Amino acid sequence: TNRADTILYLDGVSVAFDGFKAINNLSLVLKKGEMRAIIGPNGAGKTTMMDIVTGKTRPDDGSVYFDGTVDLTTHDEAEIAILGIGRKFQKPTVFESLTVEDNLALALSGSRRVFDKLFRKAGTEKDRRIREILETIRLTHRRDWLAARLSHGQKQWLEIGMLLGQDPKLLLVDEPVAGMTDAETEETARLLREISASHSVIVVEHDMHFVRELGVKVTCLHEGSVLSEGSLDHVSSDPRVVEVYLGR
Ligand code: ADP
Repeated sequence: TNRADTILYLDGVSVAFDGFKAINNLSLVLKKGEMRAIIGPNGAGKTTMMDIVTGKTRPDDGSVYFDGTVDLTTHDEAEIAILGIGRKFQKPTVFESLTVEDNLALALSGSRRVFDKLFRKAGTEKDRRIREILETIRLTHRRDWLAARLSHGQKQWLEIGMLLGQDPKLLLVDEPVAGMTDAETEETARLLREISASHSVIVVEHDMHFVRELGVKVTCLHEGSVLSEGSLDHVSSDPRVVEVYLGR
């Protein structure tokens, strides 16, 4: 692999829980600016893989290189977040009693970019970035609403916006469209495609209709390893993939 254009490289990663290999010699390469969908049946190791990348779980074997040469397995969760990896869990965790704008302002106050500029034009820079994110997540008209009033989909977008405010290089997104309406699902695909123009993204997702709308390369995990990789058409017609989904 060419390190310069690779944002994330899992090299033969394994982790066992009580002797059971949840991740088994897993290798995966994500290019800078690439969005990848990770699929696979329950128990395939998707969550554990994300836990390893974010430092929540330390692998027994293998390496995880981020942005060239940084080996994430030598860093803890807080350090990895600062290095530029943001994770969005399935359930939105916005601050319900704050406005949409204040949720974003709070997320931005922890960002490296704003911190750097604190003693210069911090106020205007921050306002500009908040306006930009509000446009991206299509919530400009809701900026003064309490987050509690937002729909489930809007809360998810706000949380994605809060992640963007931290200026990550890589975003990990866990089942973003669970519980969304069809229209919200479509809007989420648009949002993630727009974000992927300037960020690297990994999306774990069960909803194949949504994965198709993302239109990106797919990796199917099974028993902690890569079972199949390629376009959604390629992966979904791979007999081994059909077998693990039907055989359940
Ligand atoms: P997925 O997200 O694809 O559904 P997981 O990564 O959650 O899969 O789980 C992979 C396997 O590892 C499962 O068999 C699960 O039961 C097991 N596992 C995950 N985390 C733990 C843990 N902390 N302790 C024991 N077993 C675990």
